[in-house]
Amino acid sequence: MGILEVKDVNKRFGGLQALGDVNLSVKENTCHAIIGPNGAGKSTLLNCLVGKLIPDTGSVLFDGNSVLGRTPFEICQMGISRVFQTPEIFGDLSVMENMMIPLFAKRDGAFRLHAIESVASEAELRTDAERMLEEVNMLDKANMHSAAMSRGDKRRLEMAMCLVQNPRLLLLDEPTAGMARADTNNTIDLLKEIKEKRDITIAIIEHDMHVVFSLADRITVLAQGTPLVEDSPENIKGHPKVKEAYLGE
Ligand code: ADP
Ligand code: MG
Repeated sequence: MGILEVKDVNKRFGGLQALGDVNLSVKENTCHAIIGPNGAGKSTLLNCLVGKLIPDTGSVLFDGNSVLGRTPFEICQMGISRVFQTPEIFGDLSVMENMMIPLFAKRDGAFRLHAIESVASEAELRTDAERMLEEVNMLDKANMHSAAMSRGDKRRLEMAMCLVQNPRLLLLDEPTAGMARADTNNTIDLLKEIKEKRDITIAIIEHDMHVVFSLADRITVLAQGTPLVEDSPENIKGHPKVKEAYLGE
């Protein structure tokens, strides 16, 4: 049994079947990539895993417990964190202030930057934030206005904001979308390092096949809301159905 078990999940938006009978099993401490053309239902699937959407039917189990009907806060406390398709940082805040938000959010379920009761526990959280920034080579940018950063750095900060919550399952929705090649390679290196250092399971949606083949242990191809094939990267590369439906060959 995988740490994440998706069973017979269906999700409709009006007349559109965005997900149809999705089954997916993600093994603990692996990187599982979900690929597929635009509109295949990849983001919808991810949203069903973090409580942003509730499937019409089916089940989603994390470590044997259902995530359905739980609030995003409860799901975060279960050990799931997620990076969005478009950067979701707070541009008006500094890098360090951005890092404190997920730490408070995980602890209290609310963003309470200006209502901190315990200075001691704030200091502890700040140490966690600093350690994480060091891990992603951004400690020197701690006091920087985050809106002023490059797109690559914003994505890096967003990743750090997820990782600082110490998730058991990290969900990434196109983490390298719109990145320059150098930033993409940095992201690959960072994720490889994290995979090695931590007990963490990664589910990644990604268009860039270089990223997918650099990181994934398993790949699921989603097409029109349904898994087309699931296999090792080696087998996916040469799979005729995948070439036809996705790689465009
Ligand atoms: P992907 O991430 O694979 O590109 P999405 O999961 O974003 O695909 O979308 C799958 C399908 O569902 C698309 O046809 C999209 O237009 C539709 N869709 C996604 N979210 C909504 C929504 N909130 N309301 C209506 N349709 C949606
Ligand atoms: Mg998407």
